[in-house]
Amino acid sequence: MNSFSSFLILMVACICTTRAFVSYRGYKAYEVTPTTDRQYRELAIWRNLDGVDFWRFYAKGMASTVMIEPKLVAKFERFLEFTNMTSKVVLDDVEDALEQDRQSRSEYRKTISNGSVDFTTDPNFNIYWSSDQMETYSRSLAQRFPNRVQFEVIGRSAQNRILYALKISNGGFGNKPLIFIEGGCHAREWVSQATVMYLIHRLVEDPVASNELLENADWIITPNLNPDGYEFSRTNNRLWRQNRRQVNPNCVGVDLNRNFAFSWRTATVACGSQTFSGPSPFSEPESHAINDLMSRYRQNIKIYLTVHSFGDMVLFPWGFQGSPGLIGNHEYHHQVGLLWRNAIQAQTGKVYAVGNVAQLLGNAFGASDDHMAGNQNVNLVYTLELSRGGLTGFDFPESQIGNLVRETFHGYRAIGLHIGRNY
Ligand SMILES: [Zn+2]
Repeated sequence: MNSFSSFLILMVACICTTRAFVSYRGYKAYEVTPTTDRQYRELAIWRNLDGVDFWRFYAKGMASTVMIEPKLVAKFERFLEFTNMTSKVVLDDVEDALEQDRQSRSEYRKTISNGSVDFTTDPNFNIYWSSDQMETYSRSLAQRFPNRVQFEVIGRSAQNRILYALKISNGGFGNKPLIFIEGGCHAREWVSQATVMYLIHRLVEDPVASNELLENADWIITPNLNPDGYEFSRTNNRLWRQNRRQVNPNCVGVDLNRNFAFSWRTATVACGSQTFSGPSPFSEPESHAINDLMSRYRQNIKIYLTVHSFGDMVLFPWGFQGSPGLIGNHEYHHQVGLLWRNAIQAQTGKVYAVGNVAQLLGNAFGASDDHMAGNQNVNLVYTLELSRGGLTGFDFPESQIGNLVRETFHGYRAIGLHIGRNY
């Protein structure tokens, strides 16, 4: 074979691997509840395997949700039986569930105005936006409200999309306590960007909200940290979690929330696994960019929130294994976490769990929350797990996200008022 034909074959292989639609036909999802330390340890081993995807991994005594690829199903079921683990099948065929969610989304889209939506002057918060729409809207805010919003490019993704932050203030950005919010770290967790874009809208365009929330604090927000992954989850693989960098010829994607420097480890997680931590800390342009941004402003930053789904949880450090137990200001973290919970509960009756990552979720290495607390010394650091929706939990129905973004705003508002009044 000459080198040109090898090149052609390679090109076709690349196009196929990057363009193909990924089906989850025959994949099963289980809820599994380890009740002893031994069961918990044994279940945790499955976390590191290819073909196993924990949608939620909780501490002992709580029901975790895990998806298993077809060729591992029999082995996994034998494992459940052998360990006598409490479990049930929640989705018999994950592709059926995704198909139903796609179907209801397309039915819903027919019921709403399909006229050309102008995202600059009439943002529609009842649908999921594309990365382009988020960027267009963000840039338009900076143009229309130059005294309130600065659009700053902070890097480029592996596929050359712009990574950006919005700096929001009522003038003179940088003189007040700063609130840092990061959305869209994990590709499939679509409600993250939806709630953060709505927050931005209220902060900038709603006079009442901007008066009270910008009076004593500035905000720095990266609404869509992982645009490559997000777009891939919209078009090719609904359950994609990572970024889209080609790490080596056989493997694409790093879990950005395992790529931060604090307690970073390659552990035993191989490239190809959903929680692959990357070849080195900050090897990924997205985690690198956000850490840079944090370093530049950390003197003023009083709180960092990273927004994920799902689980209705307000989590705070530590999460890494071998951690010294509770973080120094554990009680204060808990109190401020309750502000979020109470604000949402007052709106909806929904109750968020508030607590330390290791206690509620178990250990994670190289996560952004431990890094921002442990290396960047940010006083308050949270990982929010927003509400589940749809059959998998990641497909919060578009017909209800308008309500979700509004209810979540009350949580952001409660935190914002606290920072403004206390620093
Ligand atoms: Zn996440």
